[in-house]
Amino acid sequence: MSKMILISNRLPVTIKKDSQGFEYESSVGGLATGLKSYHEHTNSIWVGWPGITNESLSSEETIDIRQVLDKQFKCLPVFMSELEIEEFYYGFCNKTIWPLFHYFTNKTEYDLDLWEAYVKVNKKFFDVVEPLIENGDTIWIHDYQLMLLPQMIKEKHPNTKIGFFLHIPFPSYEIFRLLVWRDEILQGLLGADLIGFHTYEYVRHFLSSVRRLLGFDNNLNHIIYEDRNIHVDAFPMGIDHERFAKEYDTPEFLTEVRQIKQNTRGEKIILSVDRLDYTKGIPEKIRAFDEFLCKYPEYKGKVRFHLIVAPSRIEVDTYENLKSEIDELVSQINGKHATVSWMPIWFYFQSFSQESLIALYKHADVLLATPLRDGMNLVAKEYIAARTDYKGMVVISETAGVASEIGEVVVVNANDCNAIVNGIKTALEMPTEEKIAVNRILNKRLKRYNVEFWADQFINSLSQTTEDSKQSATKSIDRSLSVITDAYKKASKRMIFLDYDGTLVGFESIPQQAKPDIELKRLLFNLVEDPKNTVVIVSGRDRFTLESWLGDLRLYMIAAHGLWRREPDGEWVMTATLDNSWKANVESMMQMYTDRMPGALIEEKDYSLAFHYRQCEPDMVSMKLGEVRAALESLIQSNNLSIQEGNKVIEVKDSRVDKGQSASAFLQNQKFDFILAVGDDYTDEDLFMAMPSNAHTIKIGTANTNASFRLNSWKSMRSLLKELTNTKEN
Ligand code: UDP
Repeated sequence: MSKMILISNRLPVTIKKDSQGFEYESSVGGLATGLKSYHEHTNSIWVGWPGITNESLSSEETIDIRQVLDKQFKCLPVFMSELEIEEFYYGFCNKTIWPLFHYFTNKTEYDLDLWEAYVKVNKKFFDVVEPLIENGDTIWIHDYQLMLLPQMIKEKHPNTKIGFFLHIPFPSYEIFRLLVWRDEILQGLLGADLIGFHTYEYVRHFLSSVRRLLGFDNNLNHIIYEDRNIHVDAFPMGIDHERFAKEYDTPEFLTEVRQIKQNTRGEKIILSVDRLDYTKGIPEKIRAFDEFLCKYPEYKGKVRFHLIVAPSRIEVDTYENLKSEIDELVSQINGKHATVSWMPIWFYFQSFSQESLIALYKHADVLLATPLRDGMNLVAKEYIAARTDYKGMVVISETAGVASEIGEVVVVNANDCNAIVNGIKTALEMPTEEKIAVNRILNKRLKRYNVEFWADQFINSLSQTTEDSKQSATKSIDRSLSVITDAYKKASKRMIFLDYDGTLVGFESIPQQAKPDIELKRLLFNLVEDPKNTVVIVSGRDRFTLESWLGDLRLYMIAAHGLWRREPDGEWVMTATLDNSWKANVESMMQMYTDRMPGALIEEKDYSLAFHYRQCEPDMVSMKLGEVRAALESLIQSNNLSIQEGNKVIEVKDSRVDKGQSASAFLQNQKFDFILAVGDDYTDEDLFMAMPSNAHTIKIGTANTNASFRLNSWKSMRSLLKELTNTKEN
């Protein structure tokens, strides 16, 4: 039976060791609660670190822990040493990824040792997960600690469905590009079939980074990458609404509430709940509260600020310094404003149980959640859910992911002290009816889109994504393989036209690096050696390059889209005499746009001029390309010229030269019982059009085509050639 493998850095169970033995504590975080019912009710296993380092465990204890986690919690531990935790978790995760992805570039460290630890630990997770994987399994990987894992799994288990969800922001391209190992991280993530983020903004940032750094475009949030269709989408994480909305009547809860009421003595409560983290904007909001009391002294004695800061990552220096800064600010402001009977800030540096938080949520008048950056901010959602009388109000910063879902509350810029001051005042003074109206809408939304709904949506979308991708991949490949291989095997005289770039080698490679590799050479050799075959490489490349790359094979070649033809014995002949007098005019027009579009370049071929814009800033291309096209069209009207548009290129060429015309020459006066033509770009459409009706034509890629078959990538084409020539895998 197929199963679900959940993978996160931390298991939903944390192990603590004391003098009595081991304690297994369930985590209450969003992830643990969100996937709890899935984990309990489905055939699933959760893989992650149990929160205790190798050094504190004997080998017998490790075996015991493994058994308990397996039997009682359906969990599989990944054990880590103190050094791994230091370099991987406190190191690369929290000194590199965390600050950079939250836009704290000045706190980001780029240290090769830490990166290597990150790679090593991702590999360690892979080694633990790999033996579990069976056909049909679904794998859901979580968060920034494991961004290389999707690719590691996909490479070894291409048929496994892999989902990845990032719980922190994905920064804009301008920030992400600063990362030294940016390509590796993107490639790691692209091992997944579905990549989820909290907001559309993060989706946009990710797609833009993939496009600009790896050169893969997207269509309606789908990226075609290495023969796979990857879906990228927003799934804003929900909360366990019921748990926060519930009216608790346990003695502990009621005591907690009584104490809050007694202590508050009618003062309005402003509440803030954060982990100790520089991304949360804690000093900024304390200063804003100070400013609020200075600006509106009438509130002195009438409000109190409950500032809850849960200890976190205190092992990292930056966090320790932040704690000192908060301590100092709180005592300074309390010293400044307090009276004998009133203290403005109540600072708690401790972790509260969620029951205690709920009691506080239910009695706080304002929740002040003003992170400088936050992937989501679940606290804001929890507070809204807990205030079942709808009489509270949230002040949220626009740089928290949640702001895009709760835009009806008071939204501020966390760097703008004045905006926070005014925000606090607006929230405190908002008429009750207005608060009720806003909270009613928000509660309805949060209740429906709760954490289970979130998990369902993601998992359903993952099955849909892999289903779609399977369908499109198998439809094209199976059809080609069976129909074409059968016809090939039966035939006694075959003609095979093969385009080169994008058809036999990766289109993603830099043009100069598209040299044939050993595998391709072997495939072409096997194809050519079969006496039944006539093989023609039909390329837009110049004849010198083709000769140096493939000249040792007994191939026919068509270079420069048909202007040159090579016989198997190595002789090159020109197929037409061209007049190139048109080039000067067209080139000066192209030059004008090259000057105005940094990154663009002109390539001169024997019979054409190509304007390449692959390296240009994509937004600039959207603005300028129409103009380039119109300018070139106006120039070509009176000559025998045509314009062809390809992948990031516009080419003006002599219309008498094309791949189709040159290929047709091979078919004249000869009878073949099998004809195959394969290509990937616009110039190959001429080839397809020139083929007789009984020919098999294959388009590589997703663009519109006149070909009758389609394959997703050059890799599938190589598989087909292997099949035809019985070439064994390396
Ligand atoms: N939390 C808690 N006790 C505390 C402080 C916070 O249980 O003393 C919980 C809180 O209820 C919320 C989570 O920690 O579920 C914080 O999530 P959020 O998205 O706001 O911030 P993160 O810590 O993930 O950056």
